[in-house]
Amino acid sequence: MTNDTLFIGQNYIDGAWRDGDTLLETFNPSDLDEQVGRYSKASPADIEQAMDAAHRALPAWRGYNMQARADLLRKVGDLLIERSASIGRLLAREEGKTLPDAIGETIRAAQCFHFYAGEVLRNPGQWHDSMRDGHNIIVSHEPVGVVATITPWNFPIALPAWKLAAALAYGNSVVLKPSSFVPAAAIMLVRLLDEIGVPKGVVNLVLGDGRIAGDIMIDSADALTFTGGTETGRAVLQRSALSMTKVQLELGGKNPLIVLDDADMDLAVSIAANGAWIQTGQRCTGTERFIVGDKVHDEFVERVAKEAKAYRVGHALDADTQIGPVATAPQFRANLEFIASAKAEGADLIAGGCEVECRTRGLYLAPTLFANTRNDMQLNRHESFGPIAAVIKVQDLDEAISVANDCDFALSAGIATQNLRAAEQFRSSSKAGMVMVNAPTAGLEYHVPLGGRAPSGFGPRETGTASAAFFTEMKTAYINHGVI
Ligand code: NDP
Repeated sequence: MTNDTLFIGQNYIDGAWRDGDTLLETFNPSDLDEQVGRYSKASPADIEQAMDAAHRALPAWRGYNMQARADLLRKVGDLLIERSASIGRLLAREEGKTLPDAIGETIRAAQCFHFYAGEVLRNPGQWHDSMRDGHNIIVSHEPVGVVATITPWNFPIALPAWKLAAALAYGNSVVLKPSSFVPAAAIMLVRLLDEIGVPKGVVNLVLGDGRIAGDIMIDSADALTFTGGTETGRAVLQRSALSMTKVQLELGGKNPLIVLDDADMDLAVSIAANGAWIQTGQRCTGTERFIVGDKVHDEFVERVAKEAKAYRVGHALDADTQIGPVATAPQFRANLEFIASAKAEGADLIAGGCEVECRTRGLYLAPTLFANTRNDMQLNRHESFGPIAAVIKVQDLDEAISVANDCDFALSAGIATQNLRAAEQFRSSSKAGMVMVNAPTAGLEYHVPLGGRAPSGFGPRETGTASAAFFTEMKTAYINHGVI
């Protein structure tokens, strides 16, 4: 028995919490008999009002005292840490990641606010001499404007946080639309911003179907920051082209981990298992392809399969759970279909591939491993976004890199090797946006750029100082002092 209560969520428009016109409900993927949230979906008129409010709030927020803006962001971070246990619990109930992961994600959200509190004070421009006597030139970075922010379900608070913190730090106003599957944590974040007194209209939150909200938001925004699936990304890019809205897209992956014959096998197995199955494989940077040298192939398959089978799959709130349920029913069905078609293609199922019975009725899937697969199989071409990985055997480093790069996606890629020259050849020839040497393909830090090449990403990178390229616009001013 717990004291968990039904979470009721509303839209936040122009500084006021408002009901919409229809309901949205969420259920605990660890226990489908438990309803977690009930929400009011914003109507198209509500979404338009949210966009208008953000436009109205922009001029004053641009001019808001920079120390006060930094203090406000830092306070959000402080409160997120203070409340990480309760927010994390809600997040774990709605998304299904384990409680330590959910609390850790909330703390990560806090760290993003702390980082961007500092960035408020570090938005330097440039001063240039001019070719013309009596002139000089100033390059400054101005807010991009109203930022439409659309986020997926797998990082329900960290993702809204790193986008919002950066947007606000650089003086932009925001309309946030979180995933319909897991809106609670994003609402908690916006409640916090409301509580500490962010000026009305600077942050707005609308709930509901992304296909409806997306178009309205894109048409009226100055910029769109979007994280989600590649197909959705393509649709929002097309829509953005019509209004010439600036875009930042972070999309899907099919990330490879190369394991060379000289790898430290303990390390290789550990980073492989971590990359593929932790957080139920629901990380855009998770490993889906193991590209393994001929000589260590059999040992690797045996040892990594043992890891897969040893994971304790269970309720997200149980203390001994290592892997929670799949987050959503459509994703669960898609994973089962993915596994069935991999089997039909002739891949050998080595571990998992089936549902897991737990103490509650949830969306439990066993960590799954296929071997004897080829890179041209559909299994290795499409993102599963689940706890499913496949092994491809290769003869040498050149073949491994060529297989790793023979993929539509280019988000993250890793290598396990003790050979510095091999590591450097991989680092320089991988087409992925992020490369990992002797580290899991997943697991990113917030002070450096995040992103991949198309179709895993499009537009300027996010997180760290790199996000200034998206959240600001440059202005070049030529000043003739001779007449002043
Ligand atoms: P989706 O693309 O289905 O949804 C993402 C968001 O877009 C949701 O808020 C959704 O709203 C909204 N949306 C849906 N259709 C449209 C539309 N036509 N216009 C505008 N917005 C729309 O992704 P998932 O939520 O299923 O997330 C999983 C995907 O996200 C995976 O492919 C994963 O790789 C990727 N991802 C990428 C990351 C990266 O940094 N590269 C990080 C994390 C995830 P609604 O919920 O209402 O449908």
